[in-house]
Amino acid sequence: MADSPNLSQPGHRGSGQVEKSSLLGPAEIRELAARLGVAPTKKLGQNFLHDPNTIRRIVAAAGLRPDDVALEVGPGLGSLTLGLVDAVRHVHAVEIDPTLAAALPDTVSAAHLTVHPADALRVTGDRFDPAPTMLVANLPYNVAVPVVLHLLAELPTLRGGLVMVQKEVADRLTAGPGSKVYGIPSVKLAWYAEARPAGKVPPAVFWPVPNVDSGLVAFTRRTPPEGAGRAEVFAVVDAAFAQRRKTLRAALAGWAGGPDRAEQVLRAAGISPQARGEALTVGEFVAIAAAAKLSGYGGKLSPSDAEPEERLMTGEPVGEAPIRDVTP
Ligand code: SAM
Repeated sequence: MADSPNLSQPGHRGSGQVEKSSLLGPAEIRELAARLGVAPTKKLGQNFLHDPNTIRRIVAAAGLRPDDVALEVGPGLGSLTLGLVDAVRHVHAVEIDPTLAAALPDTVSAAHLTVHPADALRVTGDRFDPAPTMLVANLPYNVAVPVVLHLLAELPTLRGGLVMVQKEVADRLTAGPGSKVYGIPSVKLAWYAEARPAGKVPPAVFWPVPNVDSGLVAFTRRTPPEGAGRAEVFAVVDAAFAQRRKTLRAALAGWAGGPDRAEQVLRAAGISPQARGEALTVGEFVAIAAAAKLSGYGGKLSPSDAEPEERLMTGEPVGEAPIRDVTP
């Protein structure tokens, strides 16, 4: 198990318990950041947790088993990593900031921690040994959705996860059909997993303090609905939400090669051509993709055809998380 963090605290962990003394509070975060000369950047979504209670809450909500292998994206100064190393048999921490990646083993001295100085959007499954089973992370908010979707695609061994994201994004990831915020992230995550809200987190537990609330999203992988492959289904989803206020007959016209063809595919799938994408379950999107395969219709829209609020959630460049206070 891990040694204590290499700070002023004593503290020893083990036995699956996360002890109060072993986690980083505001003083330790301030000390570490000063020692490393870290000035948090908005570009990398650097809002560090300095509240041990929140760390304990995240670790508990993740439902980790002792034999799990946790994958943490963006360990930052190590706040959550310190909680994770005592809860699982191995932790992989993927950090894009070279200064933070290099400092992590000093803060979290554990033989079962592997630090990957890398971009989580580009990592491939073959670099992780042992293979990760759970994604647990306080994600950089501007790339949260593409990171989750990329890792679920890349790592079939992930059985689930618990991620902290901007509250608005948490709402979208867990929304169901008929909700105003149901969209591309909701359907794509639903293709991989059952997702549920796991609580709200106030801005005060971060340094710097963001001016948005955060939300926890828990998810459990499931077998994707049968009938069509992921790329085919996601192409329908992208097309349907690119013009979400239009009927599917109109929204899928470009994808199908004309509104009549779109209608034909929709009818074959048992979906009303007058319905809108926001009303469909992931299973119904699969049915459309499957019907398109049979008819030979259906193509692919580029993500840039999507409306701005959909682009925000699907991996294209987005604004930075606003920060209102940079005082630790
Ligand atoms: N886990 C830490 C905590 O809770 O205090 C830090 C979380 S902070 C919200 C996000 C972290 O993700 C930062 O350390 C940032 O450098 C890192 N990061 C940003 N983009 C990344 C990417 N594409 N791949 C890996 N890490 C990234």
